[in-house]
This record gives sequence, C-alpha cells and structure tokens, in this order.
Amino acid sequence: GNSDAITLEILRRITEVMRENAEELTRLDSAIGDGDHGTNMARGFNAVLPKVEAMAGQPPAALLKTTATTLISTVGGAAGPLYGTAFLRAATALDGKNDIDERDVLAAFDAALEGIKARGKASPGEKTMVDALTPAVDALRAAVEQGLDLPTALDHAAAAARTGMEATIPMLATKGRASYLGERSIGHQDPGATSSYLIVQAIADVVR
Ligand code: ADP
Ligand code: MG
Ligand code: MG
Repeated sequence: GNSDAITLEILRRITEVMRENAEELTRLDSAIGDGDHGTNMARGFNAVLPKVEAMAGQPPAALLKTTATTLISTVGGAAGPLYGTAFLRAATALDGKNDIDERDVLAAFDAALEGIKARGKASPGEKTMVDALTPAVDALRAAVEQGLDLPTALDHAAAAARTGMEATIPMLATKGRASYLGERSIGHQDPGATSSYLIVQAIADVVR
C-alpha cells in the first residue's frame, strides 16, 4: 500500500511540529533541566528530514531506521539515544512490512516504548517521556482490541499521551537532569513527555 508515503508524511509533520514547538520545549527544559530540549529536537528532525526525503519509495522500516541513526548522531543529551532507540525498535517491528495495519502500528509503538524504558532504565511515574508514552500505548492497545479503526485508535492514543504529559506536572523527577532538582522538580511539566505527546499527536493528525 502507501505506508511508505504515510511514513514520510508523518516525519514531515513531526519535523514541522518540533520547529513550531522548539521554544516551548526549551522553556519547559529551562525550568527543570538545561534548556536545550527544543533546540535538540528541532536540530535532530531538521537533519532527519532531508535524508528521508531522499529515500522516497523505500519501505517504512528503512525510513524509520535512518530517522533513528540520525537522531542518535544529532540530538545528543538524554533524548537523542532514547528517541533513537524508539525509532530503531519501531523500524525492527515493521521490518519487511509495506501494508501496515492497526496491529503493526501497535507493535511498533509497543516496541518503541519498551526500547525507551530499557535504554533509560525508566518506569512510569518518574516524570519522563515514559509517562506520556505508556498511557498512549495502553490506549492504542485497548482501541485496537476493540476493533476501532486506525485513525480513531491513534486519536485515543494522542488524547492519552496528552493526559499523561499533564500528569507529569505534580510528579517528582527521579530520572535525568530534572532529578537533580529533587522536590523543586515538582510543579513543572516534563519536556520529554511533552515532545512525546507532540510526536503521537503528529502521527494521529497525519493518519486521520
Ligand atoms: P538532556 O537532559 O541531556 O539535556 P534533553 O533535554 O534533550 O536531554 O531531554 C530531556 C528529557 O529526556 C527529559 O524531559 C525526560 O523526559 C527524558 N529523559 C531523561 N532521562 C531519561 C531516562 N533515563 N529515561 C527516560 N526519559 C528520560
Ligand atoms: Mg536538556
Ligand atoms: Mg542537554
């Protein structure tokens, strides 16, 4: 089918969203980190986009693998290896597939989240990207098991990611730079949970 074209469209949309939200992500990271999350993510996807644009016609897994290696080499910090691992695991889950269905998308999301948790040694409740992605994957799984179509299932995932992102505000950070602040990390939304929500929302917006 046209899963390769949709994958490229998703990567274009994520790049646009990271550019549009770079200032906001950096503002969030200034409160509880070192103020670079927005520039890190925008730099990463600005490097990804021309590479994947030059890969038109290649399968989704190839686009996602290039995304992963480019993010690892350009984003830096904590988020680079974490998102790199996520896109690499998603690529592996979709390897050899050209007609991606609901179950494949669920498998890719699940693999991406498991990759982040393994790489970051992170669990839900530690005020990280895991807190946006865990409810997103749970909602996606529930929707797919109910037989909902992919656009609807992804809408549920994006809504859950947003709720998960907002739920990081009262959390105490126990992973990453924000954990150095201890109690002072409470009351601020996690920048990585925010970029994760933006990515899930971008995917849902393109697939709709
Ligand atoms: P850095 O903290 O190195 O400057 P970024 O600012 O780009 O990296 O990314 C910070 C985000 O990375 C945090 O908001 C958090 O969501 C995420 N993060 C940091 N450490 C971990 C970890 N061990 N596991 C999962 N996510 C993490
Ligand atoms: Mg930072
Ligand atoms: Mg940094």
